[in-house]
Amino acid sequence: MNASLSTRELQALDSAHFIHPFTDTKALAAKGARIISKAEGIWITDREGHRILDGMSGLWCVNVGYGRTELADAAHRQMAELPYYNSFFQTTTEPSILLAAKLAELSPGFSRVFFSGSGSEGNDTVLRLVRHYWSVMGQPKRSTIISRWNAYHGSTVAGASLGGMKYMHEQGGLPIPGIAHIDQPYWVEHGHGMDREAFGKLAASWLEDKILELGPENVGAFIGEPVQGAGGVIIPPASYWTEIERICRKYDILIVADEVICGFGRLGSWWGSQRMGFKPDLMTFAKGVTSGYFPLGGVMVGDRVGEAIVEKGGEFEHGYTYSGHPVACAVALANLDIIEREGLVQRVAEVTGPRLRKGFAALADHPLVAEPEALGFVAGLVLAKEKGGPADGPGFVPFAPELGVGMVCRQHCFDNGLVMRAVGDRMIVAPPLCMTEDEVDELLRRIRYCLDRTYEDVR
Ligand code: PLP
Repeated sequence: MNASLSTRELQALDSAHFIHPFTDTKALAAKGARIISKAEGIWITDREGHRILDGMSGLWCVNVGYGRTELADAAHRQMAELPYYNSFFQTTTEPSILLAAKLAELSPGFSRVFFSGSGSEGNDTVLRLVRHYWSVMGQPKRSTIISRWNAYHGSTVAGASLGGMKYMHEQGGLPIPGIAHIDQPYWVEHGHGMDREAFGKLAASWLEDKILELGPENVGAFIGEPVQGAGGVIIPPASYWTEIERICRKYDILIVADEVICGFGRLGSWWGSQRMGFKPDLMTFAKGVTSGYFPLGGVMVGDRVGEAIVEKGGEFEHGYTYSGHPVACAVALANLDIIEREGLVQRVAEVTGPRLRKGFAALADHPLVAEPEALGFVAGLVLAKEKGGPADGPGFVPFAPELGVGMVCRQHCFDNGLVMRAVGDRMIVAPPLCMTEDEVDELLRRIRYCLDRTYEDVR
């Protein structure tokens, strides 16, 4: 911390020089960015000394919580010994070997991994791997990847193209060719009046429609987040993924699970696809692999693809300077050790996750809340103008989008020591997996308090 500069002075430097991601930098300059200066456990502290409960684990990544000195120690040791070496020219490093083996041990059916520096890069690798695989298999025409609207797969050109955020596509001249989208399995938007499981099957059938429209011989893979995160914590009906798997197998199309959020315990299983009951061929990961303490991402390569490209593919013309970065891998190993030693995955599955789920269900009695739901350690609810409404509607009356009620609620959270994210009028959380039961209760208390404040503003 630079004590010689005031917060205002730092904010002025920030506005003058720092273009923030996904931010209107000019609008931010008017009020000044909040400067977070330290953190411990589930709490972050800003430069003015406000303590804030981090209901979003940073950006869905700080799974083991803040202040883990053993991760700092692992980074320090590795930096002192070997801060960097690459894995391109028939060289490698010990931490990257050990992490690859550890990830394979945690992922039955995935003996190999390709490392990247982030989730977006991981999804660029997915695109390259899928096309390389089909080319090796003598079916190079199978180059199209099907994804979903409102999916988030990152911000690089391939990641944003695979994603289904229309506002990103509009600004970037995207998607690139060879990517097609279908609607998301969001019951609130598309499932009005339908039984949820029947809706799950209907939403999966849109994939079959798209495959037939494109011609199965042109389709290489389907990609999806087991539970959509940035799109607003969209938890699909249980029938959805099993049906998607059936359809992909029928047409011999690879399944890619984007596990960047759902991996490493977020849903109460090591991988989100395990919790949702399907077996992908490739899995993108990042975030929770190091709990955000150091940038690292990659792709778990299932044996069908791994054996083909290793045995028959020759040189894979793809890689990043930081693929298998030794410091990142050392931090990841220490982080996975904490997750295992403290039984965080099991705790989310059996203790804290069910408590969060029960607490979210109880928020249904709040006059503003519709559709509260949670799975593992992700949860969401809709801020609704009224409950009920027509029988063929979502069961509530939404606010006019221009009122920005989600943003009003988010501001109350910010002002009252809670980070909760707004996606339109959907409020979402993804707290650190290390939370105790008392901390889950504290999170729920704060959420209710902020909902009350929002209700006072909008009723
Ligand atoms: N995929 C998913 C599902 C994500 O949620 C994200 C980031 O939030 C990404 C990919 C991109 O990861 P990164 O920001 O590390 O590039």
